[in-house]
Amino acid sequence: MARLETHTATNGAATPVSDRPPTGGANAEPRGTAASPAGTTTAEFLDAFLQTKSELFQENREVLRDSYVPARLPHRDGEIRQVAEVLAPALRGNTPSNLLIYGKIGTGKTAVVTQVRQDLQRRAEGAANLTFVTVNCGNIDTAYSLLQNVGNTFAKAEADRIPTGWSLDRVQAAMRRLMDAKGGTIVLVLDEIDRLVQRSGDNVLYTLSQLNTELESARLVLLGISNDLKFTNHLDARVRSRLNEEKILFDPYKAPQLQDILQDRAKVAFRDGVVDPGVIELCAAYAQLESGDARRALALLRLAAEMAERDHAKRITRDHVVKAKNRLEKDIIVECCRSLPPHCKVLLYAILQSYERRKNGVLTGEVYDNYKRLAERLGLPPLHARSISNYVSELESLGLIRATIVSRGRGGRTREIQVDVPLSETMPALEEDPLLAPLGRPKSRGQTLLTNFDNPGRTGPTY
Ligand code: ADP
Ligand code: MG
Repeated sequence: MARLETHTATNGAATPVSDRPPTGGANAEPRGTAASPAGTTTAEFLDAFLQTKSELFQENREVLRDSYVPARLPHRDGEIRQVAEVLAPALRGNTPSNLLIYGKIGTGKTAVVTQVRQDLQRRAEGAANLTFVTVNCGNIDTAYSLLQNVGNTFAKAEADRIPTGWSLDRVQAAMRRLMDAKGGTIVLVLDEIDRLVQRSGDNVLYTLSQLNTELESARLVLLGISNDLKFTNHLDARVRSRLNEEKILFDPYKAPQLQDILQDRAKVAFRDGVVDPGVIELCAAYAQLESGDARRALALLRLAAEMAERDHAKRITRDHVVKAKNRLEKDIIVECCRSLPPHCKVLLYAILQSYERRKNGVLTGEVYDNYKRLAERLGLPPLHARSISNYVSELESLGLIRATIVSRGRGGRTREIQVDVPLSETMPALEEDPLLAPLGRPKSRGQTLLTNFDNPGRTGPTY
């Protein structure tokens, strides 16, 4: 199910959620009885845990999370202004241009749009009929579910909702009717729009971009946000020109800018004087290397602090940052590999294996042969070379590999693949996956050794 938020100028009230821990209740353990071996009940332990003040964090540690939108976005004044200028006509009831925002991950695109949205909504209240619908396309599988979900954000009653099972045309017509019933300016924010197009093509963007010719009382504005800088190259020319009416590029942050961003958050997140000199600078320097990604910078600082806390340290040191960096790199790669579809995992494993043998770039033909062999060993009917070629591109866009076109004489061209992740981390991580476990080798690294020997179903080494 897609994560979808609607924010309207008139009905933006959020459901209040209590964040207080539950106390008592029918199944609550009676306090002071049923003592554990350590002399405290679980309830006592949890109560004590809650009452113990962290030596490092202030109350609000959530400010280091991605989802937190700070009141101030240092070094993005220009971009905030540009986005506001494009959308401002909506406040006077005029239809703004469509807008495409693009920039690398963690450059503040989502945060900036969220802030401008809030600023506009505050001013529109009571004065203009302005609705924002924000869709994270990363969570949307198909064009169908996009239109259905967008339509349903305007459904006032259960009976108005678009059910699953209708034809695409019918869903589209129902969405239009629901939008017209709302009327006014509707800004549809398609965050991570590049992923939508990668998965389901650009037909749905064409549909949306010509919706204004069919809408009667509503006007639709598309605000696409892309992490892929070359996103528009993949679009049909008509879609590109409509989506691109205005475009804004977000540059990666440099280390000093990242330091300012981190300082702001650290002031709210930590107690005074617990952050050693150089800690923020080091997080910023590492994150600058990661293409100026503020998300990475924040994750490093948060993880370093959590490591310090687990060590019962009184201060967060540069050593904690170095440890956090190593952990984070592994986690990111492992997480990324785990989330791949099955054949893509087999392909990645095939690439790593060929690369490990050659210690050098491998050609796609060799990789495909190896993939086929592995897939057959796992009992998976191999996919065609064309599908595998798409997966090579997907692995490349995830930053796990690099593929360069090489000429092979007589006009033949193929791709040579280089691996961009440490084999020593990635192969064991993949071998731990139940799907690939039978491919693990006896002389595997680290913990995988035990796992593999314990696995009676495993076969001998591949090579
Ligand atoms: P993007 O959408 O470009 O991938 P985000 O907007 O999600 O990036 O930003 C990633 C994280 O970094 C978020 O937690 C966001 O609050 C924070 N962030 C990004 N830019 C800034 C900034 N200029 N000031 C403060 N925090 C920022
Ligand atoms: Mg984003």
